[in-house]
Amino acid sequence: MTSQWAAKLASHDLVLDALPADVERSIRQRNTWLRNLRASSQGFEFVLVDVSRWNPGQHVRVAFDGGDAALRRDVMDATREITDSCNLTLDFGPNTAAGQFRTWSSTDAEYAGEIRVSFEHDGYFSLVGTDSVNPEISGGPIGGGPGQCSLNLGGFTINRPNNWRGVVRHEFLHALSFHHAHQNLRGPCEQEFRWEDDEGYQRTEDARGAFVNDSEGRRPGIYTYLSGFPNFWDKTKVDFNLRTEDHPDVVVGPFDPHSVMLYRFPPLFYKNVPSACAPQGDGESLSEGDKRGLQLLYPGVVSQIETLQSRRETVLAAVDRAQSTESQGFESSASVARLARATASTMRNVLQMR
Ligand SMILES: [Zn+2]
Repeated sequence: MTSQWAAKLASHDLVLDALPADVERSIRQRNTWLRNLRASSQGFEFVLVDVSRWNPGQHVRVAFDGGDAALRRDVMDATREITDSCNLTLDFGPNTAAGQFRTWSSTDAEYAGEIRVSFEHDGYFSLVGTDSVNPEISGGPIGGGPGQCSLNLGGFTINRPNNWRGVVRHEFLHALSFHHAHQNLRGPCEQEFRWEDDEGYQRTEDARGAFVNDSEGRRPGIYTYLSGFPNFWDKTKVDFNLRTEDHPDVVVGPFDPHSVMLYRFPPLFYKNVPSACAPQGDGESLSEGDKRGLQLLYPGVVSQIETLQSRRETVLAAVDRAQSTESQGFESSASVARLARATASTMRNVLQMR
């Protein structure tokens, strides 16, 4: 599957990252639960990123399934720009200089790494932050369990995109709890996107199944375009991934047109060209805004670290309290209760990590 998908990929194709539908569903459910918790909580404040960030200074272990030493080294080297910008270490193994990298497998019962990289699934994606070690965030081979892939660089063993370093950095920033810049509610993107087809557009596909302009030059809109090769997204997926986040607290800082978290969309995505939502960075390097975001998430200053840790303990206390009482008006289905328990226990585990 992946080999065919990757072989058909051309350098101009836009591959958007997205998680499988069942993984997205559990994330949506958990986020709704956290928002309700936040709304009903009195006397304390938290932001969703307090739930998903790692500890400042932490050694976050990265493990690979597949790929040769050269590819693993390239991935590691591309992440250095991230770790050079904040107080966090990505630990790829005890002897990477000798080509020995940490590995994981689908049969693991213990975590070989907090971030588990695979090359075998279609597309590029990553779980956000500590969801990578939350076993309730799960869908088949992908999820937060020890034997599940948490970050995928599909087909990198066969065919890497031109901006592969940018793809690696984008996915690892997700793994460190970054969200998409184009979903920043303070940004211009939702208004700027051309969601619908040009009037009268006749659905026209190329040989690979990618939607293209029709014979009259009318263009597919975003929904149609993304429903074809190489993304194959339905409307729910487009909305989850491209509509603005519904709470300002999930993002760090103002809209940043230079961010590596802002997709380089083709012109048909925008109502106006040039668009205020179009990226101004090179799609490869972290922007100054990305680096500031990393500093906010993973500071090196002791007083800032203490503030962050105490916020996280406050959130954990609230999550614990909520899951132990039925009186807070949450939807208390079995799956939500399980998600709540898993979120509390993941936070507790991560707070112990060094
Ligand atoms: Zn992304």
